[in-house]
Amino acid sequence: MKYQFTNDLKQAQELDQNDPLASIRDHFYIQPGQIYMDGNSLGLASKDAEQALLKMMDVWKTQGINMWDDYFHYGMQLGAKCAQLINAKDNEVLITGSTTSNVHSAVSTLYHPTKERYKILVDDLNFPTDRYAIDSEVRLKGYTPQEAVKVVKSPDGKYIDEDAVIEAMTDDVALILLPTVLYRSAQILDMERITKAAHERDIIIGWDLCHAIGAIPMDFEKVQPDFAIWCTYKYLSAGPGSIAGLYLNQKHFDKQPGLAGWWGNRDDTQFQLKHQFEHQQDVSGWQIGTPTMLAMAPLEGTLNLINSIGMDKIRTKSLKITAYLMYLIDEKLAQYGCTVGNPREDDKRGGHVCLEHPHGYQISLALKERNVIPDFREPDVIRLAPIALYTSYQEVYQMVEILEDILKNKTYEQYSEKRGLVV
Ligand SMILES: *Cc1c(COP(=O)(O)O)cnc(C)c1O
Repeated sequence: MKYQFTNDLKQAQELDQNDPLASIRDHFYIQPGQIYMDGNSLGLASKDAEQALLKMMDVWKTQGINMWDDYFHYGMQLGAKCAQLINAKDNEVLITGSTTSNVHSAVSTLYHPTKERYKILVDDLNFPTDRYAIDSEVRLKGYTPQEAVKVVKSPDGKYIDEDAVIEAMTDDVALILLPTVLYRSAQILDMERITKAAHERDIIIGWDLCHAIGAIPMDFEKVQPDFAIWCTYKYLSAGPGSIAGLYLNQKHFDKQPGLAGWWGNRDDTQFQLKHQFEHQQDVSGWQIGTPTMLAMAPLEGTLNLINSIGMDKIRTKSLKITAYLMYLIDEKLAQYGCTVGNPREDDKRGGHVCLEHPHGYQISLALKERNVIPDFREPDVIRLAPIALYTSYQEVYQMVEILEDILKNKTYEQYSEKRGLVV
């Protein structure tokens, strides 16, 4: 047994006292009395993010147009900070666009269907926007999604079978897009194994890191995928709708960007404003328009904070605090019909825990009323993300006590099953 957990408040307090990341919590805006376990659709605001944003306002106020002297390459400067999280080369990572627009940008660059090889392989558990983007990319090439999108089906609606993914890599597949961590079940797919299998079959492969970046360490020097995309508002806590990430493997730098724009032009000729586009021969060639500086700035603050700690320490705490939560669920909540709906192995689970219960939605409403913030995913999953940077063991303990109370007294029964706008 890796951890020796016990079911009492005293141990939770000890775990906090011995937590090497305990002081990082003070960087974040925690609402008094609230337990924030949103899992993890929107990371909390930090003082680091706020200061970086205020600094950018100040730069605008004081420098006007001259600000570009220092900030012309801001997307790449933030990209280099982000590259550390996934061990990629600095010039392969760019902060730009949204997750969804970056799927379009990468796929339109790398998807060149031929008569023999024209399919895009996806899974049926990925977040829907990835699928909408892929369907529209095949339509733009003159196919219907029915003929050109090949879907690996989950056997149980929870997990993806890696062997089935590899078996589906047939000769007609041109490109693959998969999530690294599944947003609902927190399953981690083995990027190295699957990428290798794709490359052995000459298939381009990209990864969606939305629930992986900032939650688990990754090694792109080893994995060498063709592309990756991610948002920065989940585990990276850069703010609602903050600017996303794009990784493009250096072997593709010479390809024509699928969605070209003037900010991707070569630096030395960009302001000649010619009508012939010549893209930068690194990932900055995939910038489209002027970077959205105020929306990017908070990321600088949080990346500095995260890099000062390092992903290994963050992952170590995340594994321990999620193991603690699973332990308490088994001990206290299983008797009320709760199950853990994520893989239990360390190398197979991401940063959140899935609490499953047939009345999951109503329980999530009851939690909110008690000032605990979870999020709910259909059909019956309460996602709970104790975040390494700011969640304490005591909060986990208290939340499980509140859950126990809600389940024991069935107070969730007074809430409607009708779904709200943002569930
Ligand atoms: C959160 C998430 C997205 C969100 O896309 P945006 O363009 O940032 O709104 C996309 N894919 C996955 C897997 C996600 O978890």
